Amino acid sequence: MSNLNIDAEKAHTFDAIVIGSGISGGWAAKEFTEKGLKTLVLERGRDVQHITDYPTTNKYTYEFEHHGEPALAIRKENPIASRCYIFREDAMHFVVKDQEHPYVQEKPFDWIRGYQVGGKSLLWARQVQRWSDFDFEGPARDDFAVDWPIRYKDIAPWYSYVEKFAGISGNKDGLAQLPDGEFLPGYPLNAVEDYFKKVLTNKYSNRHVISARCAHISKPNQIHLDQGRGQCQNRTLCQRGCPFGGYFSSNASTLPWAAKTGNLTLRPFSVVESVIYDDKKGKVTGVRVIDTNTKEVTEYFAKVIFVNAAALNTNLILLNSKSQRFPQGLGNDNGQLGKFVAFHNYSARISAEYDGMLDYTTDGRNPAGGGYLPRFRNVFKQETNFKRGYAAGFSARRMSNKDMSGVGEGLKTNLLKTTLGPWSVGSHMMGETIPKESNLVNLDPGKKDAWGVPQLNISVDYDENDALMKKDYLEQLTEMFTEAGFTNIKQNDASQAPGLDIHEMGGARMGHDSKTSILNKWNQLHACKNVFVTDGACMTSTSTQNPSLTYMALTARAVDYAVNAMKKGELT
Ligand SMILES: Cc1cc2nc3c(=O)[nH]c(=O)nc-3n(C[C@H](O)[C@H](O)[C@H](O)COP(=O)(O)OP(=O)(O)OC[C@H]3O[C@@H](n4cnc5c(N)ncnc54)[C@H](O)[C@@H]3O)c2cc1C
Ligand code: SF4
Repeated sequence: MSNLNIDAEKAHTFDAIVIGSGISGGWAAKEFTEKGLKTLVLERGRDVQHITDYPTTNKYTYEFEHHGEPALAIRKENPIASRCYIFREDAMHFVVKDQEHPYVQEKPFDWIRGYQVGGKSLLWARQVQRWSDFDFEGPARDDFAVDWPIRYKDIAPWYSYVEKFAGISGNKDGLAQLPDGEFLPGYPLNAVEDYFKKVLTNKYSNRHVISARCAHISKPNQIHLDQGRGQCQNRTLCQRGCPFGGYFSSNASTLPWAAKTGNLTLRPFSVVESVIYDDKKGKVTGVRVIDTNTKEVTEYFAKVIFVNAAALNTNLILLNSKSQRFPQGLGNDNGQLGKFVAFHNYSARISAEYDGMLDYTTDGRNPAGGGYLPRFRNVFKQETNFKRGYAAGFSARRMSNKDMSGVGEGLKTNLLKTTLGPWSVGSHMMGETIPKESNLVNLDPGKKDAWGVPQLNISVDYDENDALMKKDYLEQLTEMFTEAGFTNIKQNDASQAPGLDIHEMGGARMGHDSKTSILNKWNQLHACKNVFVTDGACMTSTSTQNPSLTYMALTARAVDYAVNAMKKGELT
């Protein structure tokens, strides 16, 4: 090799490479750089700098061209993105547009993505709950998927570790299915939410409404101030990017922290096309990258690679990483890569009105979003005709009676006569789905994206278990709402396609056995010891709890393991 080539290869060689800069990639970057490793983070989207790249953050509603609503033409061009509540004028610049990044829907699947530095961490609803052993022991107890190779005790210290840094508000509720964490003060429920909580406590032994736990700094600790973040101001405009760093995002937290170490190289506009397996050396050596602007192909090398492109894109990258040794995709000796994809069943809602507590005139401006009903079905034993269970959101808002008739002066006068109406209460279902071999993603044999990378073909659907669970949710919530004296109860079987929950998981699941799983208990490919997957692709089952806190904890744990293994020479 000429000196020129050697120099070029050196310039492209790092200790660690992280693919993706979203929630999980940001954590990998922080952990590696803090431990002194020169780390390259590859991000397919543009850069988004904290504060300076939040163009809508201080705008009033009237400053948006359509008062916040997406224009009809934009909605027509983006039927998939438009189905997500976040796709409004203030945040749509952080959401992938349908036309720009097409994929194949063998079955309907609304794939909501954020392709930029920070990924979906800018957009998420910040709901965070620890998983418990009712989740990690679930597949073994209820006979589905494969046994998780870890238990709660393996991840508990890592939950504590990430919670302290990220800043999580919540209360110690003492529930077995929802372990308590390292909390900043929780946001209080409003009067009607608190009333519903009391109704449930009086009537049922196992149904609770707690304050939603969320990744907001309700009261900063020194570690948050050290990140340059401050107390959440309860503006509830988080999806625009928060100039106070009040909520956790990669942009406000992990990435600037990693940059401060001097060990971070962040390369936006870099689509990772594949991970390179060198058949001669018999190991993974790096990644192949396409510059999204120039389409130039470059290779980068490292001793260890973390794939954090978000669940389905991680599957795509691994499936597209073919070599003589791995003709079906990296680490895919058992043909299971891309299979056993699962998600959360968010397809039912319920709403009602409450005529009580009318002397309370405000509903509070709660950035955590209100209340959370942890799973109560089949927790300690199987008790229904479906497997697993669901959690539910619960919130109450005071409605106003607006008279919007008239024009000009008449309209102004009528609007000034606005009076307060009854309370509006609502809940949405968050059901666990069962991973199945038939729910899968693979590479489309013909269709490619703008950079020549095969498009992802998604074939994921609900099943009978989901239908039974949804029926139970609607029945049980109706019963609870009736008990509380709520009226005008409306069940809404939204029948939305999978995907809109934005909790897609699996495809490269963790397990004990390399014959039935892709990753081991350290999130390491069974067949390639220097490649780790710590985003949603790794999840063996889905729990009812939100997933992102678990991705963070698994990532920090896996980096710790990887760095120790490198020191012992085990990853070479
Ligand atoms: C509106 C909304 C609400 C949500 N609410 C919650 C919630 O309340 N609680 C919760 O736990 N989760 C929530 N989520 C989900 C949460 O955002 C994701 O679970 C989380 O962001 C996943 O982290 P990640 O690192 O796997 O992926 P992401 O944060 O999506 O980051 C992946 C990154 O990889 C990049 N990338 C993809 N492909 C490539 C490639 N080939 N090469 C280079 N880079 C690539 C992407 O551009 C992206 O920046 C919500 C999501 C949305 C959109
Ligand atoms: S609610 Fe808090 S985190 Fe969200 S934008 Fe406002 S200050 Fe920031």
